[in-house]
Amino acid sequence: MDLISAVLPTPIERLSNVMTEAAGITLYIKRDDLIHPTVSGNKWRKLKYNLLEASSQGYTRILTFGGAFSNHLYATAAAGNALGFETIGVVRGEELAEKLSPTLLFCQNQGMQLYFVSRSEYKLRSSDNYLLDLATKFDHPFIVPEGGTSTLALQGVAEMVPEVNVQLAKTANYFAVAAGTGGTAAGLLSAGANVLAFSALKGGEFLKNDISMLLSNQHSSGSLQLFTDYHFGGYAKWNPELIAFMQNFKDEFGIQLEQVYTAKMFFGLFDLIRKNHFPKGTTIVAVHTGGLQGLLKA
Ligand SMILES: *Cc1c(COP(=O)(O)O)cnc(C)c1O
Repeated sequence: MDLISAVLPTPIERLSNVMTEAAGITLYIKRDDLIHPTVSGNKWRKLKYNLLEASSQGYTRILTFGGAFSNHLYATAAAGNALGFETIGVVRGEELAEKLSPTLLFCQNQGMQLYFVSRSEYKLRSSDNYLLDLATKFDHPFIVPEGGTSTLALQGVAEMVPEVNVQLAKTANYFAVAAGTGGTAAGLLSAGANVLAFSALKGGEFLKNDISMLLSNQHSSGSLQLFTDYHFGGYAKWNPELIAFMQNFKDEFGIQLEQVYTAKMFFGLFDLIRKNHFPKGTTIVAVHTGGLQGLLKA
């Protein structure tokens, strides 16, 4: 199970430039993009305890959900293949069956069975009755929710916080993350971190509720600041300004971001730093959650 014991801790690096100096901010990037070549970033952390639980309960088959460019489907297919689980991906959009995206093609090549459903059927993905139907149809697999986001996922993400505390020999004031389902933000909060979450989707206000639902059986948690204005038109949408930002970031720091999550998070974070949103002396750890398989090929 070398995949389960991936190379940890992931590196942490200081990001310093004229902007951080002027604002008096100490900024780090946590390189979870380097966790594993195919099971990257937060998806590895979120899958870890899901897969251990599936294995300890004797399951040999995993069923989960995602869209055409889903980093989670990609990671699940690769992890399943490496660890000997059969995998089934319930994919949003029937029309995708005719022309597989590179992500879905990869999943298929890893042995994942793709099950395409209409957008309206996909909306049922958390409904108990629908999950019972799927369980019957696919001979009782272990079901992992969309994005890997479950209570088991929080435990894996939470491990990042003590890992960083040891690396920095202090506690950071904030962890910054991109948010899709909010599972990663919830995991960090469950470990007591204060979290700056940047919605990668339009209308990200729903995340506040989803995150507090995920945290409902936790004893205590850190504080959450949710930013919903840096979505660039919505999930998987972008514009030339975001692509230019990503290029500048790479030129300046030598680190590749992608346009769906991490570039939006850093764009938002830099905007807040520039506007002096944080008092001088603040330490922020921005998490590179990975996702580079979905990088826009210019
Ligand atoms: C899935 C993903 C996110 C969002 O994580 P959630 O836990 O769903 O909020 C952020 N960054 C990357 C690179 C991702 O693949």
